[in-house]
Parts: sequence; C-alpha cells; structure tokens
Amino acid sequence: MNWLKREIEELKSKHLYRELKVLNSPQGKNLNISGRRVINFSSNDYLCLASHFDSECSKWGMGSGASRLISGNFEIHEILEEALAKRKGTEAALLFSTGYMANIGTVSSLASSKDLILSDELNHASLIDGCRLSRAKVLIYPHKDVETLEHLLSKHRKKYRHCFIVTDSVFSMDGDIAPIDKLFEIKKIYNCTLIVDDAHATGVVGWSSFELFGIKPDENTVIVGTLGKALGTFGAFVCGTKLLREYLINKCRSFIFTTAPPPIIACQTLKNLEKVPARMKKLKERISYFRKTSGIKSESAIFPVILKDEQTAIELANYLLKNGFFTPAIRPPTVKESRIRISLCSEHTKEEINRLWETINRFLKAYT
Ligand SMILES: *Cc1c(COP(=O)(O)O)cnc(C)c1O
Repeated sequence: MNWLKREIEELKSKHLYRELKVLNSPQGKNLNISGRRVINFSSNDYLCLASHFDSECSKWGMGSGASRLISGNFEIHEILEEALAKRKGTEAALLFSTGYMANIGTVSSLASSKDLILSDELNHASLIDGCRLSRAKVLIYPHKDVETLEHLLSKHRKKYRHCFIVTDSVFSMDGDIAPIDKLFEIKKIYNCTLIVDDAHATGVVGWSSFELFGIKPDENTVIVGTLGKALGTFGAFVCGTKLLREYLINKCRSFIFTTAPPPIIACQTLKNLEKVPARMKKLKERISYFRKTSGIKSESAIFPVILKDEQTAIELANYLLKNGFFTPAIRPPTVKESRIRISLCSEHTKEEINRLWETINRFLKAYT
C-alpha cells in the first residue's frame, strides 16, 4: 500500500496535511495542549458544560449493552427525548448515537430514488452523505439562495414523488444562519419536507433556530439537534411528529443497527439542560461583544477569519498558539477559503476576547 504514502506526500506539498493535537486536560475554556496552557477558542462546547459530571448519573452504569430495539432502551433515554422535543417545540424526538448518524440515517430513510432533495451548497458533510445514501435526485442550490431554490422547485418538483429541502440552520464554518422563515414558506408552496440541522444552533441562538424566526415547526418539519456541542455531552436527536419517530425506529438503519447511547450520557444531558438558559444568555452577550469588536458578521458563536491561502491560515494558527490561544486552521476540503475559525464560549471574558483580536491583528499587520 505504498500509494498511501504518495497521497500523504501530496497533501503535505499542498499544505493540506492534517494532524491530531493531544489534550492533557478536560475540555473547557482553558486547555493543556502538548504541555502548554492555552485559552480555547476552538471548541463547540459553547456553554462550557463538557467537563461537568453529576455523580448521581453513575447509577445508570456506563454501557447500554445493546441497540435500542434489542435491550438497550432505557427509561432515561425516553425521558430525555421528551425533554428535548418540548424544547424544540415538536411532538417527539428520537436519540441517535451521533449527529453524523442522525443526519445520514434521517435523510436516507426518508428520501429514496423517486424523490427530490434540494440541498444548500454549504451543508455539513453528514447531510451530504445522507443525500448520497438516499439515491434520491439531489440538486444543490447556492448558499442561502432562496430565489434559485424556488426556480429549481418550479422546474423540477412535479417530476418527483416526495421532496425535501435540507439545510444547516447555523452554518458550521461561517456562523451565518439559513433563512428558515423563507424556506418554511417555500416548502409549503411546493409540498416539501424541511429538514434543518440545528447542530450549532441548539443552546446558542435559542433552544431551536425556529425560535429566532418565531416559527412553530409543523408536521412537515424535521429538526436535528446534537448533544456534543452546546449541550456538553455526546450524541444527537431528531425532532418531529410522533409518526416520524415511529417511522425512524422502524426504518432508519443508523438508529437500528448500532448500540444505544450510554444511559449515563442521557442522564448527564438532562442535568445539563437545566443549566442552558443562564449560560446561553452569557454566551449571547459575548457574541455581540465580539461582533462589535471584530466587525465579523456572524450571527452565532462561530467567527471565521478568512485568509488568503492555506499557508497563511496555518501560520496564523501557529502564531496564536505561541501566544496562548488555540484556534486551529480550517482548510479545503472542509471549506473553500482557508481560515481560522474562532468559536466563543459563555466563559470567555471581554479581556480574553480583546487580547485574541489584538493578537490576530498584530499577525495580519506583520505577516500579510
Ligand atoms: C457537528 C455536526 C454534526 C455531527 O454531529 P456529531 O454529533 O458530532 O456527529 C452534524 N451537523 C453539523 C452542522 C455539525 O456541525
């Protein structure tokens, strides 16, 4: 398998080689990386809940022992599902082991070869893979471009049986927000189902992206949330009608053929939910402060600093690390334009935010 080596060499020559960084501390606002203490501006742990553990949850044990349909369905799973559905404003929710699995399973079990999917060009890889697995006809529309979306629907909708509009709500690399209100109207006009990925919205912009727009999810709405980001644990959930939940339990391969999420995680997630409102309020203050300080037009906790090439992104990331800030470079194929991606958490102080922004500007002045 020597060709693996050639592929790796090619990545290195293009500044696209990736390496793992090792943490020597729990996730949080401060991290120890390779022995160095840094301020973490790179985590999806937006509410600094990841390091929390209530010992009371240990009564559930660690493993779940089986898939949900065999003997791994615990009461605590169902209690959490009800709590999550209530917060998303839907009838029901179903837990999944990860957001990646929730997305590939939901999209591919709902859509099939007779159907049409319209997908935003900047959607998360897991939605893209779900579209591919479904074997449906997939049309990619330009980022947030509802006019083109309508045009595509008016031209193609009638040739297909079911139709799905699929989008991230908060886009994971730019931090901007999909026009959920317009997508919601369009899906009604063209008799489609709207599938929204709230991974970076849950616990950041509200309990749900729909809240921002004052919309109540209807029976043709599916919202995917994740637990591994603002909610501080691990896993994901799909929200919709009771009928959707029943269907996924019976048809969704990434729900059926995998071990159930550990009950201890469901327990801890329930505990964390109580802490969300107060922390979300703090996070929102930090977000508006950094938006003002930096002039970056983000509507979420994600702030991209776009750079001219891969090398500059890596150099800036290294410069920041040397100065005590952890903000890794994000490069193709994850994004088109290389960048450092800053993410805020509820515990960052104004002083830390100011110092980060000053350090970035010092680099940009001196090296670009
Ligand atoms: C992180 C993420 C996922 C995947 O969730 P995991 O639980 O980490 O597998 C899905 N969609 C988006 C937009 C994400 O950012």
